[in-house]
Amino acid sequence: MEMRAKGRGDLKEALSFHPPASSPWRIPRRAFLCAGAGVLAATTFVKATGSIAAEATLPFIEVADGVFVRYGVQEEMSAANRGAIANIGFIVGDESVAVIDTGTTRQQGLALREAVASVTSRPVSHLIATHVHPDHCFGHAAFSDLPVRSLGHRNLPRALAERGPFYLEQLAEISPDFSDTAYLAPQETVSDTMRIDLGNRPLLLKAWPPAHTDNDLTIFDERAGLLWAADLLFAGRLPTLDGSLTGWLAALEILRPPGVRVVVPGHGPVSDGVAALQQERAYLTRLRDGVRAAIEEGLDISATLARMENDNQLDWLLFDTNHGRNVVAAYTELEWE
Ligand SMILES: [Zn+2]
Repeated sequence: MEMRAKGRGDLKEALSFHPPASSPWRIPRRAFLCAGAGVLAATTFVKATGSIAAEATLPFIEVADGVFVRYGVQEEMSAANRGAIANIGFIVGDESVAVIDTGTTRQQGLALREAVASVTSRPVSHLIATHVHPDHCFGHAAFSDLPVRSLGHRNLPRALAERGPFYLEQLAEISPDFSDTAYLAPQETVSDTMRIDLGNRPLLLKAWPPAHTDNDLTIFDERAGLLWAADLLFAGRLPTLDGSLTGWLAALEILRPPGVRVVVPGHGPVSDGVAALQQERAYLTRLRDGVRAAIEEGLDISATLARMENDNQLDWLLFDTNHGRNVVAAYTELEWE
């Protein structure tokens, strides 16, 4: 079993990052032209010609008392958008501040740091990474001179070690402006749950089994009844599968317990989360069922892609660049069932 699981993981990683020139499945090239929320697509970016940092104009919005979010744009990562495609932000307690994700670049991290300073003089005490994808945590270096506790999923250090150098290469290809970015492994990791307190503001960090990735961390803010779901929830933009499809569907069953009033997705608008969860579950369920049926019929990946590639029933943004990869990831997972 272990050999089999390992082999599957290796295969998925190869598909994600180093598509072989002569794939035995003859997968349409399009399947790889996708960002996968963090797996960068060198072929889909646009070179920036201006020098104005797009992310500098993106505001931090107070979505609940003391909770600030900078919405990412619903686009693939590009030089023009400076990689500001994910939701990042911070939570202010009575004594200190927790930063949750920092964006793609040191510049975005610095902008976040300035945003914190503009609303409170309390220090940043915690720096949280929700998962390995660079649009979420590659701005951490902007906080490296501060005495903060940096936190992440127990699998995050390994994931950063395995993928970090590749992500940096891809970022540098997208724009020279990304070349000074870096990644930082968390000093403390969460294996199950961890409670931290910002001063009359307890936060519950939860490490999930493989779902969107194998290192997803969510944050529940009791005071606001707010769940920072990060990339376990995509709103509007197509979810991207980089962990486990069946695991993700299982996570969605318990992601939003009673008492949650506000949900911050990794991409898309903040809401009560109900409709967004339903849409994501519908997509992932349809993906699972469609791929399972194809496997049972004996279709290979290429034929499965051909059958499923245009099935955008919920009108997701960025469907064309990401759905094919989801089908491939689902196939490589489900064929072992
Ligand atoms: Zn992600």
